[in-house]
Amino acid sequence: MPSLSTKPIYTGKAKDIFETEEENTLRAFFRDSATAFNAQKKGEIQNKGKINATISTLLFQLLEEHGIKTHFIKQISENELLIKRVKIIPLEVIVRNITAGSLCKRLGIKEGRVLKSPIVEFSYKDDALGDPLLTRSYIINALEISDEKTLNQISQITLKINEIFKDFFLKVGIKVVDFKLEYGFDKDGDLLLADELSPDNFRFWDAKTNEKLDKDRFRQDLGNVEGAYTEMLKRVKEGLNNKNPQFSILNSQFFIVRVQVLPKKDILDPQGQAVEKALKSLGYNEVKDLKIGKEIVFQINSDSQQHAQEKVKEMCDKLLANPVIEDYTVEIDSSY
Ligand code: 5GP
Repeated sequence: MPSLSTKPIYTGKAKDIFETEEENTLRAFFRDSATAFNAQKKGEIQNKGKINATISTLLFQLLEEHGIKTHFIKQISENELLIKRVKIIPLEVIVRNITAGSLCKRLGIKEGRVLKSPIVEFSYKDDALGDPLLTRSYIINALEISDEKTLNQISQITLKINEIFKDFFLKVGIKVVDFKLEYGFDKDGDLLLADELSPDNFRFWDAKTNEKLDKDRFRQDLGNVEGAYTEMLKRVKEGLNNKNPQFSILNSQFFIVRVQVLPKKDILDPQGQAVEKALKSLGYNEVKDLKIGKEIVFQINSDSQQHAQEKVKEMCDKLLANPVIEDYTVEIDSSY
């Protein structure tokens, strides 16, 4: 293992990068410090350094398994990763699936809308300028920090990473709202994914409750920031252990359920009787045995129509109908 020097060659907002004895290997130390709004807001999130180093490790390994080339070598302590030296392209590559953050501010649209298809956008990595949004022409012809071919390659890899993460996190009940990536070239001229993969540079929402489980808790003073980061580490580990089949999009789907509930034939139905009487008073004497019931409609997630049917019957017997005085019928359809 390379020996570890104490002099950082780069100090970022949440990480320090050190050289090692091997020229092309660096050491990234993840600190607990947190910043937001271009470092105007500063603070500490307890244990963030080790949580982010570990989440990054697990997610870089996941991407490598899917054939994505990254700068990750290995985790050498709770807070530290060994990484390949790359020349970072000063671009923040942002991918969005759901409206949030600066997109909502810029366009005056509401948070939480699923985008027609994922958006990849580029910002200039420059704190002094406030990381401005760039067009491809700005990047290629004005800043001259990248070229058409590289930008196409970056967009393609970024969309692939997005698909990997969307699938992975959905299985553990997490929506990937958006995230920021950085890329660089190594000594051989290979384009590698760099930086980190953690709740600092992702927006993660709980799929059921939409609870924010990322740095927005710090940005927006929502409290329990450490709890959210810890929860995300837990979900990543669950995903890797494949422990949560109830979220699996491969094995389950939503079914539409309609339950019709009616009073039994010989049970007194005062509401029904009143309506029948009213109809007769209007001259509709051909009406008889009128009953008034209710219809309950909902969707249910299940791995098969038969299992959905069994679950709904259980619900009817326990709550939705009163089997002593009411009859019910259940209709179940595939929703797609
Ligand atoms: P937005 O542009 O909406 O502020 O951010 C989009 C996504 O990129 C969010 O997931 C956010 O965390 C991430 N992001 C944007 N800028 C930065 C940045 O300067 N540093 C980090 N760590 N993440 C960023």
